Amino acid sequence: MIPAAFDYIRAGSIAEAIDLLQRDPDGSKLVAGGHTLIPTLKLRLASPALLVDIRGIAEMKGIAVNEDSIRIGALTTHAELLASEPLHKALPIFRQAANLIADPQVRNRGTIGGSLANADSAADWPAVVIALKAELEIASATGSRRVAARDFFVDIFSTTLGPSEVLAAIHIPCPAAGTRFTYRKIRHPASGYAVVGIAAAVRINAGVAANLSIGITGAASHAFPGDIAAEFLAGKPLSQGNIEEAARLQSAATECLSDRYASAEYRASLLGTETRRALLALAA
Ligand SMILES: Cc1cc2nc3c(=O)[nH]c(=O)nc-3n(C[C@H](O)[C@H](O)[C@H](O)COP(=O)(O)OP(=O)(O)OC[C@H]3O[C@@H](n4cnc5c(N)ncnc54)[C@H](O)[C@@H]3O)c2cc1C
Repeated sequence: MIPAAFDYIRAGSIAEAIDLLQRDPDGSKLVAGGHTLIPTLKLRLASPALLVDIRGIAEMKGIAVNEDSIRIGALTTHAELLASEPLHKALPIFRQAANLIADPQVRNRGTIGGSLANADSAADWPAVVIALKAELEIASATGSRRVAARDFFVDIFSTTLGPSEVLAAIHIPCPAAGTRFTYRKIRHPASGYAVVGIAAAVRINAGVAANLSIGITGAASHAFPGDIAAEFLAGKPLSQGNIEEAARLQSAATECLSDRYASAEYRASLLGTETRRALLALAA
């Protein structure tokens, strides 16, 4: 449980972090909260020659709730997301989800940017940012680009981030007045990670679902949008029957992950149940 030797540098800016990564893209790793990376090093699943500590980079911190959009710096911790009152007022789903992540120790150190960049198939934030139609701001040597959250996750522990790129911030459009949110998950009993987790947002307009958006984590190799259920319910009332059919269709269309804890069949069943419960909560 002792990592291989590595060098360690604190970067003072995003530009400096990128510069350090570029010198040896395959041999360097960013470290934010370290709550995934440090165990990985201890188990020697990774042995980078250099760790670039980004925790001191001011431009990657803070939550700004503006008129049209909300900016969350990638270094914002789970605990800060849980505590922020302005964020809670604008997007209550953040407090709901942060409260379900691990324990206070992990929440005090782990960052939303680290969680998204790491792309664990069972992490909570990927489902939330997909449901909120967020854009991820990615900085590289050639400038900055934005990627829709739904296109960011590629496979297990794999994203569209390049080896010398830094996830700088998350941008979320302010929701229309009256938008309802929910996040729920079946927790793995040991880690608290999502065996299956569902984030959803909807506005009920003249009795029917408008702008329903769903993010799903835990079920498959990476988080993905629940488009099958959302498309089925578009313009329909969130009745018990419609919700049950939407959940059934989403579950049937998803190729679920199988591991030592849960078989693909069990995850598919949980996906149907959790989607139904999340949508019923929105309808209530
Ligand atoms: C006991 C335990 C329980 C947990 N339970 C949960 C849970 O219930 N739900 C959940 O979602 N998570 C859970 N986690 C994970 C936790 O939320 C981690 O903190 C998080 O996944 C990684 O964030 P970090 O800031 O610690 O990243 P680090 O460990 O510092 O980095 C993780 C990876 O992301 C890269 N990286 C970090 N920041 C950036 C960036 N800004 N740009 C580009 N790359 C970057 C690093 O190079 C590294 O490869 C748990 C962790 C532990 C130890």
